[in-house]
Amino acid sequence: MAYDDNNIFAKILRGEIPCHKIWEDAHSFAFLDIMPRSPGHTLVITKARAENILDISEEDLAHVMAAVRHLAPAIVRAVDGDGFMIQQFNGAAAGQTVFHLHMHIVPRIEGVPLRHHATHPEDDAKLAAVAEKIRAALAEQ
Ligand code: AMP
Repeated sequence: MAYDDNNIFAKILRGEIPCHKIWEDAHSFAFLDIMPRSPGHTLVITKARAENILDISEEDLAHVMAAVRHLAPAIVRAVDGDGFMIQQFNGAAAGQTVFHLHMHIVPRIEGVPLRHHATHPEDDAKLAAVAEKIRAALAEQ
């Protein structure tokens, strides 16, 4: 499948669709998932035109993972989490629904079950408040 420049994350990167932005650098961009599996669920996406992990250069993949490593502690701290999970899907059969490479950072709180993947749209004001907390935690880092 060829990369589709009109996928929703490409539109977010171009600023055509709003998002709750957390952070960006020259290679990667991070924002909140609108159907979070837990509060603070963040998506870290590449700025490269890549669908999945087989389609991205090793260099751009390393940039995304470095961004995950940079962001995860602040995300966990912002939601008083105890740990975090990284999820990444390759292909529709694996559960991928947006065909632009992204890593899910899903904070975990001891004993609190996860919501199912992409099933519960979150209230926009709640997302805005969580994004603000994460940006503040990052600024303190
Ligand atoms: P995946 O199955 O890994 O492709 O997951 C795509 C993720 O993108 C899901 O967790 C969705 O909740 C999330 N998502 C879809 N549209 C948006 C959007 N406009 N802004 C933020 N997250 C989104």
